[in-house]
Amino acid sequence: MHVATTTTNSETRVQTVRFAPSPNGLLHLGHARSALLNWRFAKACGGRFLLRIEDIDTTRARPEFERAISEDLGWLGIEWPEPPRRQSEHFADYREALAELKKLDLVYPAFMSRAEAAGHIREAESGGKTWPRDPDGAPLYPSKDRNLGNTERRRRIERGDPHSWRLDMQVALNGLQAPLTWRETGTGPSGQTGQIIADPGAWGDVILARRDVPSSYHLAVTVDDALQEITTVIRGHDLFAATSVHRLLQTLLGLPAPAYLHHDLVRDKTGRKLSKSDGDVSLASLRQKGLGPEEIARMAGLD
Ligand code: GLU
Repeated sequence: MHVATTTTNSETRVQTVRFAPSPNGLLHLGHARSALLNWRFAKACGGRFLLRIEDIDTTRARPEFERAISEDLGWLGIEWPEPPRRQSEHFADYREALAELKKLDLVYPAFMSRAEAAGHIREAESGGKTWPRDPDGAPLYPSKDRNLGNTERRRRIERGDPHSWRLDMQVALNGLQAPLTWRETGTGPSGQTGQIIADPGAWGDVILARRDVPSSYHLAVTVDDALQEITTVIRGHDLFAATSVHRLLQTLLGLPAPAYLHHDLVRDKTGRKLSKSDGDVSLASLRQKGLGPEEIARMAGLD
């Protein structure tokens, strides 16, 4: 078989892409677009297509949704030669990455519950302050826990206070040797392409390990893209801004940087991006209505 490769630092790599759904609902047309773009990319260059099940949120992930993912992808004509990587089976890898960041003094325990943080922000806003928001519109985490002393942190951890782990963004940024960029081979939501300047600071102290799960989306996706030797990350515009965080984590952890290809999203009639709760556009329901894989590809904006 012809295998396309890229040469990086004189080392030859097979082109590898991944489709990484979360099994907490049925796949819809937007997922079909992403999965098919990954699949066609791999086919076109004789590369590898991998399936990753992003199920760190063990309260929302369901085996029946994972089964439905396999069924839908198989029906679309997509094949994945290797068993899927299920993130819930690899918590040790994410713990190890977190431990490295702890050693570098780049993370801190965050004790505020979601309600406490929301209350803190409400109070500040009621005093007329506009609280900063991340690119997804969520308020940044308050600085209170970042400013706790080590003795107090240790005392609270020893006492068993629930806590997550957050990146100390400012300290992480201060340690960078050069501006962070990534190679965008698709486009951003405003048409950005080529060498993109990353702006991880816009996300504030991102969460790296949740109270209940020893990882977060950002940490798991960064570690897995490296462990699975992904050469191009193909995913929707909704994750374009998050790439800044992933590039930062790659740099801090000494991991390679893949290329990125962000694609536009499938939208409903009102222009909203599809969500898993819009049952009428699930691939399963479209299949039941008698539509075939080619029609699905067309509806997902592909020929
Ligand atoms: N698990 C994410 C989702 O279902 C995709 C993550 C990624 O492609 O980086 O939206």
